[in-house]
Amino acid sequence: MDVIRQVGALRLAVGQARVKGQRVALVPTMGALHQGHLSLLDCAAQHGELRVMSIYVNPTQFGPSEDFTKYPRPFDDDCELARGRGCDIVFAPADGDMYPDGFCTTVSVNRLSETLCGASRPGHFAGVATVVLKLLNLVQPDTAVFGRKDAQQVLVLRRMVQDLNVPVRLIAAPTVREQDGLALSSRNVYLTAEERRQAPLLYRGLQALGRAFEHGQLDTQRLRASARDIIAGATLFSLEYLEVVDTVMLRPLDRVDRTALVALAARCSQSRTRLIDNITLGGEL
Ligand code: AMP
Repeated sequence: MDVIRQVGALRLAVGQARVKGQRVALVPTMGALHQGHLSLLDCAAQHGELRVMSIYVNPTQFGPSEDFTKYPRPFDDDCELARGRGCDIVFAPADGDMYPDGFCTTVSVNRLSETLCGASRPGHFAGVATVVLKLLNLVQPDTAVFGRKDAQQVLVLRRMVQDLNVPVRLIAAPTVREQDGLALSSRNVYLTAEERRQAPLLYRGLQALGRAFEHGQLDTQRLRASARDIIAGATLFSLEYLEVVDTVMLRPLDRVDRTALVALAARCSQSRTRLIDNITLGGEL
């Protein structure tokens, strides 16, 4: 596996693979890799002979009071994990190469970026869309793989690719969870022991909602109540949102009359960690 920091070297390596007829699959990450990230490499292997993982903690997607400076950066461990899972290239650009002096451009995916996580994280999805479009332009992959764990991100990027005619296929891979159901996240390390004990209730609430839907409940008020009852047991968490929305424009649904995304965000009172999770009803993302 090659660790590449320079854009020129990246282009050369990808170009050489293309000459050999290899398809290129990209997995963008911010590092602090866990089994969820590594599962995206497995997915990439199904779509490309050259697997590129980018590791870049993108400053423009963090708000001023967010955890950019303390975000975990165990780079050497990440490279070992990526190598062990069949990654061919880790691309880890420097801030100065991604955002050189005079950088002025932002990709805004309007409407989709203003709801759910976007409501409390203004500018977040513009930061994500901008850096992902840059990575897609740098690597020019056939396929890029993202996790359904960040469902809104998937939908924002899908919209961007469609709206701007970006020649790439986006794949949304399933969420990898701990045995107790908690979705793996690089931010789980921030949780206190008691928060970690309560955190699986978020997914248990979503599962209860999913069961109510399977039993025929289509009214989203009632569905949300079934999740809230369980999530209320996580007394150290306050729910930022729990919404049932359509999977195209993320508009709230009164009834589940099409594929729906059920998404939540919750904040811990002790560590201030913010966790997100989601399920879909009646289809996949
Ligand atoms: P991040 O490093 O948090 O930007 O995540 C990089 C990619 O990994 C994104 O596409 C995430 O959606 C995906 N990801 C994060 N957590 C998980 C998980 N538990 N299961 C599957 N994919 C995940």
